[in-house]
Amino acid sequence: MHEVAPAGSDADQSRSLRARDPTPNAPPSPAAARRWRPVHILVACGLALAGVIIAGATGMIMAAAVLDEWQGTVAFISLAVASSMFAIGAVALLGVQQLRSDDAAVEAHAGRAKNVPTHAAHEDVAEQPQPRSQREQAFFLNSVVEHIPVPVLVKDVREQRYVLINRAAEDLLGVARQEVIGKTAYDLFDERTADTIFDRDLEVVEHTGKLMHSTHQLETPKNGARLVASHRIAMLGENGETEYLLGVIEDVTERTRADERIKYMAHHDLLTGLSNRALFMEKIEEAGARQRRRGETFSVFMLDLDRFKNVNDSLGHPEGDLLLKETARRLKSSLRETDMLARLGGDEFAILQSAEKHQQEGATGLADRIIRIISEPFDISGHKVTIGTSIGIALAPKDGVEPSELMKKADLALYRTKSEGRNGYRFFDPQMTADADALHQLEHDLREAIARNEFEVHYQPIIDVKSRQPVGVEALARWRHPQRGFVPPDQFIPIAEETGLIIPIGEWVLHKACADAMTWPPYLKVAVNLSPVQFRKCDLYHVIWGALVESGLAAQRLELEITESVLVENESDVLAMFNQLKSLGVTMALDDFGTGYSSLRYLTKFPFDKIKIDKSFTQNLTKRAECATIVSAVRALGFGLNILTTAEGVETERQFDMLAAAGVNLVQGYMFGRPCPASELDRNLVGAAASRVESAA
Ligand SMILES: [Mg+2]
Repeated sequence: MHEVAPAGSDADQSRSLRARDPTPNAPPSPAAARRWRPVHILVACGLALAGVIIAGATGMIMAAAVLDEWQGTVAFISLAVASSMFAIGAVALLGVQQLRSDDAAVEAHAGRAKNVPTHAAHEDVAEQPQPRSQREQAFFLNSVVEHIPVPVLVKDVREQRYVLINRAAEDLLGVARQEVIGKTAYDLFDERTADTIFDRDLEVVEHTGKLMHSTHQLETPKNGARLVASHRIAMLGENGETEYLLGVIEDVTERTRADERIKYMAHHDLLTGLSNRALFMEKIEEAGARQRRRGETFSVFMLDLDRFKNVNDSLGHPEGDLLLKETARRLKSSLRETDMLARLGGDEFAILQSAEKHQQEGATGLADRIIRIISEPFDISGHKVTIGTSIGIALAPKDGVEPSELMKKADLALYRTKSEGRNGYRFFDPQMTADADALHQLEHDLREAIARNEFEVHYQPIIDVKSRQPVGVEALARWRHPQRGFVPPDQFIPIAEETGLIIPIGEWVLHKACADAMTWPPYLKVAVNLSPVQFRKCDLYHVIWGALVESGLAAQRLELEITESVLVENESDVLAMFNQLKSLGVTMALDDFGTGYSSLRYLTKFPFDKIKIDKSFTQNLTKRAECATIVSAVRALGFGLNILTTAEGVETERQFDMLAAAGVNLVQGYMFGRPCPASELDRNLVGAAASRVESAA
């Protein structure tokens, strides 16, 4: 190693290495030979041909001279020219022969380069490469080190000074080798970095001959902080003592950043920067381990934003994203440093609350804070947006410690909060699991119910206020469960909508209602309720057309009832479908008016034939004056827009009188008949028809 010299002391090392001819007697390179050979051959062949032609011509001239007794001088000159040309041709042919020999030598040269023995190579031993001199050897090694694409540094052990660095090391440090050679780490780096280097060098020297690896931060003189993986070894000199320290350094900054980015993306939600589900589960796992070790309690919150979908649908997804970001910021502000917030997807968030002295009180306090801050209006791109949040909470270890178990229980509590009106919180209790199991069983039974023909259609009369006579019926789906008896519609309809089973159920009800209506007097209309799912997912136009054609019912006798929730989604698509259905000749009723958005815009945009006032207004008519006011206002609205009004839920004569006084056109409710099967309805209708005939008479 004594001969190791600073690499690159001659800037043109590599170029001079390439330019230098290591075998002076070597044949010309194949490229050089091929550059001049064709010209020579062409000239030589031309001269030879000319010699032959002139020799032939000279012979002919000599013959003519003998025959014509020409002078001997002419013959002599001709003979001399012919001889000269022969000589030139012969020399040219010899030249061609020489070229062929050169070709053989070139091929032998190429053969050696490929380690393929050739005839020519064996013949000319003098062309074998000669052993390099010491100087050449050092030059060669220097060149190799210089071109290694990773930084290499060699340091003298005694003085701790750099004696060699290559080009890649210059690039890493950002300084030329002249500024490094002969310097110590303390001359080049800040003190902290130099201390680190010194300590590592010491460690390497103590383990001479052993390759040591480490990854650490390196504050370079010009390129800032880099993360490097260094591989170092101490080398012995000729005297058997440690003489040099060789370091090969890998700059892993970019690779590490990319790895960190990938890791970050795998554990975070990119929109809000919060932890994602995977990281959240890991943190619950860790909290569970702490609970087992030290008995620390923790709580898992699951959150769902109320009415977020409306914002997304009405303002658009970019505004929806802004709302999610702002929600994340508000939620974060309500937490302590020991708590963790995650976005699980969509409008679902989760919180891990730890280190609460009084667990239940702490969880209640946090839930209250969250509900309060999320209920405050948001300003999204100039729009005032109000949402709410529903929360489910599971407590560990009371409800378990396993991540999936806690998440499931918090989710069940959340589901309960949502089903009880949203914008609140519920703690998990074991009854929720039992209810959920029952619900799953119900869902399973519902799937079977269609095949088992367990559905029925019941009909409730719709009465004309003036004549008190039935003018139609509303068809209502009923499920007669083999064990449970009748399952209330508010229990199975939401499940049917969630599972999509409402489509086959709705279609069956429609066909049955149309078929039944064909057996009734022609002045009776039949009203069928349509679910938003049917509007979204099935080819409603053809379904309704098919039911009319199959039953033979006149389209004018069929009324379709939809709620406002149908209208808020994809308004233009819904309007197109709405008009298609109206083109069949059926009438359209806006159901449960007053309970939802009650947007008057829908009444002008969608050409409804009827407004049905929700039963909650009817039932409070005699108790709350504002209900009577609303009923009167809706009636006035209907009158102005030429739309009939029906009041639902009429149970008493007093209610009927008030509705009649308000000018409502139609009523339905227990006062005039509960929903009943078609067979019972027939008797009522026969009675009604009889009284009609009587009153007509
Ligand atoms: Mg209805």
